[in-house]
Amino acid sequence: MDIQKKLLPKSHRKEHPRDESKLGFGDIYTDHIFKMDYYDGKWQNPRIEPFSPFQLSPAAMVLHYSQTIFEGLKCYRHPDGRLAMFRPSENLKRFNQSAQRMAIPLTDPVFLLDALKELLRIEGDWTPTHPGSSLYIRPTIIATEPHLGVRPSREYLLFILLAPVGPYYPEGFAPVKIYVESFYSRSAPGGLGAIKAGASYATSLLATDNAAKKGFTQLLWLDACHHRYVEEVGSMNICFVIENKIVTSNLTGTVLPGITRSSLITVAKDLGIEVQERPLEIGEVLEARSSGKLTEVFGTGTAAVISPVGLLSYNDEDLVIGDGGVGPITQKLYDELVGVQYGHKPDTRGWIEFVD
Ligand SMILES: *Cc1c(COP(=O)(O)O)cnc(C)c1O
Repeated sequence: MDIQKKLLPKSHRKEHPRDESKLGFGDIYTDHIFKMDYYDGKWQNPRIEPFSPFQLSPAAMVLHYSQTIFEGLKCYRHPDGRLAMFRPSENLKRFNQSAQRMAIPLTDPVFLLDALKELLRIEGDWTPTHPGSSLYIRPTIIATEPHLGVRPSREYLLFILLAPVGPYYPEGFAPVKIYVESFYSRSAPGGLGAIKAGASYATSLLATDNAAKKGFTQLLWLDACHHRYVEEVGSMNICFVIENKIVTSNLTGTVLPGITRSSLITVAKDLGIEVQERPLEIGEVLEARSSGKLTEVFGTGTAAVISPVGLLSYNDEDLVIGDGGVGPITQKLYDELVGVQYGHKPDTRGWIEFVD
């Protein structure tokens, strides 16, 4: 499929952010967006056009039944000036897994990778260079058919928008305080926990907001059946360092298969650190902490890459992890992963996909 292009004249393009050190997360968008429509049983009309609000019927199914999915990945500026993405094909593969679960027609990941590169060729100069910043890529699909009967939509819009971003948490790479949520659930067996659906995020808002009002940055989600097994931290996977081994929840179907998680497991093993993917009870976490075996906790995800946890609050008790700072294993894994992403360390695993 040929990608049609309707580009803004240079004089009509926006000014880039003046101070890259002050970038937030997702407040500024670039000048152009990629779009593609689904109707008559196929994806068609791929195009790159100016970023602007779009028209949607008030009866569009996404607005009523939340039939929508998304992805999140980043483009980094390497020291030699080249634009690099981190394992984008994994994101596009997962995009289809999400589509399948939400009864959305699948897309061609090879075509979408090409389309993404084409968009980045036009918009790549928006990629910030300040340490910790990047160009965030957000592919999304929404159900656009105007129809109120409950069934999968027959029409969709796929779009990819780009946003220059700074660190996900204003704290940056610094320990965050986490509230262990033992009432609300993020995901249940047979539900949406393993995919990136807007609906899963909607589910998490109230509990997260409650925790924020108590001064916590994020939640630790426990499993929905027993409220005992640790699953994720906010919208990140979670790792515990117990007796110098990394323990992370296995992919049970209620945990999202993070690409950062899987990359980190590989990196850890390469560094000679043992990794256990298994169910982990909150009781075991508490015990390991009391006995001094639990030394580090961190979340992993594209947005923050690695986010150290300094404190867990469980049943009104504040549990400081280690000395409350960034632990040595957390730091080592962060340096290695971020080093590869930003091109300061060699990409020995074929994870970097250059735009050109
Ligand atoms: C996106 C996401 C993650 C992290 O996945 P990455 O591929 O590492 O970005 C973890 N948990 C949830 C719920 C997510 O939506």
